[in-house]
Amino acid sequence: MTDVPFFSLARAHAELRPQLDAAIARVIDSNRLIMGRELSAFEQAFAEACGVRHAIGTGNGLDAISLILRALGIGPGDEVIVPGHTFVATWLAVSQLGATIVPADIEPDSFNLDPEAVAAAITPRSRAVIAVHLYGQPARADRLGELCRRHGLAFIEDAAQAHGSRYHGRPAGSLGLAAAFSFYPTKNLGALGDGGAVTTDDPAIAERVRLLGNYGSRAKYEHEESGVNSRLDELQAALLGAKLPGLTAKNARRRAIAAELSRGLAGIPDLVLPHVVPGAEPVWHLYVVRHPLRDALKAALEGAGIGTLIHYPLPPHRQALYAGTALGRLSLPHSEAASREVLSLPLWPEMTDAEVEEVVARTRAAAENLAGRRTRRAC
Ligand SMILES: *Cc1c(COP(=O)(O)O)cnc(C)c1O
Repeated sequence: MTDVPFFSLARAHAELRPQLDAAIARVIDSNRLIMGRELSAFEQAFAEACGVRHAIGTGNGLDAISLILRALGIGPGDEVIVPGHTFVATWLAVSQLGATIVPADIEPDSFNLDPEAVAAAITPRSRAVIAVHLYGQPARADRLGELCRRHGLAFIEDAAQAHGSRYHGRPAGSLGLAAAFSFYPTKNLGALGDGGAVTTDDPAIAERVRLLGNYGSRAKYEHEESGVNSRLDELQAALLGAKLPGLTAKNARRRAIAAELSRGLAGIPDLVLPHVVPGAEPVWHLYVVRHPLRDALKAALEGAGIGTLIHYPLPPHRQALYAGTALGRLSLPHSEAASREVLSLPLWPEMTDAEVEEVVARTRAAAENLAGRRTRRAC
């Protein structure tokens, strides 16, 4: 019996080693390391994969969100609605621009923005909604997009966990006015370092994101705006270009593993399995279960050799960074409950079937043991 780590890149890199080595050699030989042909080729291929006209490489996912907001002219005095349960980057992009974060609670079953909560959060100062496609499952883009249209708000996707996912047949990255992707190494499409991208069909947003991410400069040493330095370098673009053709197959393998986990773990008391929303085609960036005794389940799995992680143990509004602000006093019951109860099980495309079965068997044993303990205590 072998243990199963939460995640490993070793097999993915071994499989693709010749292509990765070739990509690196090509960049070295090109003698061009920033804003060259590798970037243009990858941007074109990624835009096509997302079903949009424009993709613009950025330094990372956080910058991709910030650049969209800046391109839209969002800043102090503007309100941006974000989910209460997400990685902190979604919030930081808003607060770092001096705009006001307005959190909306999530749906407890999908972990994504609740359109009713968004509707209730809209004020005359609202400018945008950022929907996160959390764990690889697209948010309810139809209802959220409609709400935004009705109120004149920009509908922005945080698609950092959702490369290749679809909602009613349309790819993440094409569901809103603009979308932010991260190519952090553990994402469904990961670089060998940091990277990100903005996708959009809007040529004006594409142009402004490109300008703002490159020192506000169109021509060398001419600066129209106070931009930042946030570019996807040639090396990362070349490596991503080598990995992109395999994304569909990797996502299909993730889907097969998720189906196997859900089949094998069905029917255990207190263990809540992931819920797929009608019309959503998730790409299973993470396989997240809920359990009322989450910490005990995590400890039991650790003892049994199964790696797990918690995404995320503390909601952004409970982070020290927002403690002195009005955000720190908010109550978002579904987001808070999620942080207490979620547990991510191992799900990565290169897991063997035998490893998937070990995750099922040991998780089943640990959760059934906990259920037994709860029943005995209740007697
Ligand atoms: C990873 C991630 C980001 C940030 O991406 P980086 O490339 O690490 O800056 C933003 N939002 C979500 C939901 C993420 O998972």
